[in-house]
Amino acid sequence: MDQDILKAHPYHGKDAVLSTKHGKERAVAPPLMEAVGIRLCVPHNLDTDALGTFTGDIPRVGTVLEVALRKARLGMAATGLPIGLASEGSFGPHPAVGWMPADAETLLFVDDEMGIQVSESILSQTTNFAYETCVDADELDQWLHKVHFPSHGLFVRPNSGLQPNLLFKGLTSRMALREAVKRCAQASADGSAHVETDMRAHMNPTRLQVIAELAQRLGRRLATPCPECGTPGWGLVGVVPGLPCELCGLPTDGVREEIHGCPRCPLRQQRPRSDGKRAAYAGDCKWCNP
Ligand SMILES: [Zn+2]
Ligand SMILES: [Zn+2]
Repeated sequence: MDQDILKAHPYHGKDAVLSTKHGKERAVAPPLMEAVGIRLCVPHNLDTDALGTFTGDIPRVGTVLEVALRKARLGMAATGLPIGLASEGSFGPHPAVGWMPADAETLLFVDDEMGIQVSESILSQTTNFAYETCVDADELDQWLHKVHFPSHGLFVRPNSGLQPNLLFKGLTSRMALREAVKRCAQASADGSAHVETDMRAHMNPTRLQVIAELAQRLGRRLATPCPECGTPGWGLVGVVPGLPCELCGLPTDGVREEIHGCPRCPLRQQRPRSDGKRAAYAGDCKWCNP
C-alpha cells in the first residue's frame, strides 16, 4: 500500500494482541503490519490450550468462531488492549474431496473500540495432517518422510486411547519418537501406538504458511473500507446458493453469488462469484446426476 494511505489508515500505529502460545505471530504480524500498519503483541503465559487441543486431551466446545472469540478475549483481558486476534485450525478429510486431508483455518479480528469483528477463513489442501499405527517407530520410515519429520513434529499416544502420562507431544527426534512409541505400544490394549502429526503452529511450518496466507487475506480486508461508512473490514459476509448446472441450467447447491458487507453498518452488496465461476459441474447436479 502507498505509504501516505497506510499512515492514514485507522489502525496505523495501533497495538493489537494476538492470543497464541505457539508462535503464530511469526506468520500473522508481518502481513498485518504491511497491510494496515497495526502492531501485534503476544501476552506471556496465556493458556490457550484450556480452550481445547488438537491432541484430544482437552475437547473444544462451540463453533470455530466462538472458540476464536473466547481466545481473542483472553489476550485482550490479559493486556487491556481493545483490539485482539486469534486463529483456530481444524484438520481432517477435505469436505469435497474426502480422501484428501485439509486444513481449515479461521482468523478473527476483534475491535471493541470500533465495535467490530472481522474474520477470514481458508480451506487448504496444503497440509501434512496424517496419522499411523505402529508397534515400532522404525516401521514408519516412508510415512515419516511423507509428513516431513523431523522438520514437522509428531505426537504419540496408546492406540487404544488416551492414558495418564502417555501423551507425547512435539516429538522432533528419532530417539524420542522410538521411546514414545515403545511406551505407548506397551500400554495399549492392542499393543500398538497411535502416531499423528503435531498440528500446533510452532511444530508445523506448513501450517504456519497457511496461517500467513490467511493473515494476508485479513490484511487486505482490513485495508478495504466500507463504501458507505468507511469502517475497515469490508468483504465477504455470506453466499447465495443456486449456481446453475452447466447442462440443464437448474440451480445446484453451489455458490451463485457472494454477499459483501460492512462489519459495522447494514450495507450489503450482492455480486457474482469473485472466482469467475458461472456454472456448476453436471456431476454436482441432482437432476443430471441423481
Ligand atoms: Zn443439471
Ligand atoms: Zn459501513
